[in-house]
Formats: sequence, structure tokens, C-alpha cells
Amino acid sequence: MGQLFLNKVRKSFGHFEVIKGVNLEVNDGEFVVFVGPSGCGKSTLLRMIAGLDDTTDGDLVIDGERVNDKPPVERGIAMVFQSYALYPHMSVFENIAFPLRVEKLPEETIRQKVGAVAKILQLEQRLQQRPGMLSGGQRQRVAIGRAIVREPKIFLFDEPLSNLDAALRADMRIELTKLHRDLQATMIYVTHDQIEAMTMADRIVVLNAGNIAQVGAPLELYHKPQNTFVAGFIGNPK
Ligand code: ADP
Ligand code: MG
Repeated sequence: MGQLFLNKVRKSFGHFEVIKGVNLEVNDGEFVVFVGPSGCGKSTLLRMIAGLDDTTDGDLVIDGERVNDKPPVERGIAMVFQSYALYPHMSVFENIAFPLRVEKLPEETIRQKVGAVAKILQLEQRLQQRPGMLSGGQRQRVAIGRAIVREPKIFLFDEPLSNLDAALRADMRIELTKLHRDLQATMIYVTHDQIEAMTMADRIVVLNAGNIAQVGAPLELYHKPQNTFVAGFIGNPK
């Protein structure tokens, strides 16, 4: 299960309200993409869902349980950032194994889980290397591996591909779509790349200054934007 429900979620920093009462339901196994201009609140929303930021008001509900006061590690969520910090002195194996070592799982279980993740991400031949030996795309896959090894119900991606060049981004788009199909997990993916949003999303959420401007399937938003803001962002330019 990985169903997420946001009810009137708000966030203020001091007197500055950044998220202004967001309502959203994300279904189990859905791939939802958040788009919107820089500063509209995409990262803040993800950070609240992950538990890295408190909510100022409203409810965050995962699989029927209100999780606002639950610590991040108990929410069944993994977050992958744009600037993936790998441990340079550790092998790929140890980088992926790290969250399991923190949980003190037995060595055999760790080997099994890291092996399975390496297979999914095609890193089996790289497990003994250090991150410095890898390409940008491979490093990003190690970061994803570290996120999926704990088998979260919900994945949050905050512009994970924006540091990669265009060709690699295209490859990673395909890989992430495949990963979504393999894991059948719920994924929320932030990007400002329209192509990523259009090709990867089951549904797109367009954010504008802390409010949802529109939610819908890619083609629905493309052909029937509800306002000029959405039209300007992903609408049909004609
Ligand atoms: P996005 O990810 O869509 O670019 P953010 O969620 O990072 O936007 O930021 C939304 C707004 O909240 C911005 O105006 C940003 O300056 C502000 N903001 C984000 N984090 C903080 C913080 N810790 N303190 C004060 N303001 C913040
Ligand atoms: Mg951001």
C-alpha cells in the first residue's frame, strides 16, 4: 500500500505562507508529477510529506493513518534529491547497504537486498567500485538504490535528473518508468521539465504560488488547461 492524502495542508515560514491549503489524493501505485515555477513550493510540499519539514496546518494521511507527527523513518517514504550525496570512500555495495546497516539487519539479508536492488538498477558489475569510478547516471542509480533498498511504499523525487545532460536524462526517464513498473510503488516526482512531466506522469499537479492550479492526466492538461497559468506551463501552445 502507498496511498497518500493531503487535506488542507499549509506551510508558513514566519509570516510568509508558502503552501496555502493543498488538497490532493494520490492513489496506491500512481506516478504523480509536480510541476510549477521556481519558488512555488514544490520542494516544501515534498519535505512535509517526507517529514523533513513540519506542517503548519492540515493533515498528511498515509494508508489511512495521520502521519504529521511521525518521524521520517516511520513513514515508509524514501526521498531522492537532485544533489545525491554518496559516500565517496565506500563501495557502491556499502552505499546502497548503508540504510540497512543503520537498521542492523543481518549480513545475509543485507547481501540479498542489495543484490536484488543492484539487479533492478543494473549495477551488479559495479558493486565493488567507488562512486568516483562511475558515470553521472550510474551514481544517480546508486542514490536511487539506497532509497529503494528499504522497500518504501512511497517515493519522492525532487528534480533528480536536473544535474544530468540531456541524453542521460532521457535514459534515466526510461529507467525510472521501468522502476515504477517493477516496484509498483507510489511515486511523486518534482520537475520543471515539461517533457519529463508529459512522458512519465499518470497525473500532473500544476502548482502556482502555493496553490494547486490544476490536476489531471498529461493530455487533459495539454488540451484542456483550466487557466492561462496552466496553459503557459504545459498547455498546447497553439
Ligand atoms: P520550489 O521547490 O518550488 O522551487 P520551495 O518549496 O523550495 O520552491 O520554496 C517555496 C518558497 O518557500 C520560496 O519562496 C522559498 O524561498 C521559501 N522557503 C523555502 N524554504 C524556506 C525556509 N526554510 N525558510 C524560509 N523560506 C523558505
Ligand atoms: Mg525545489
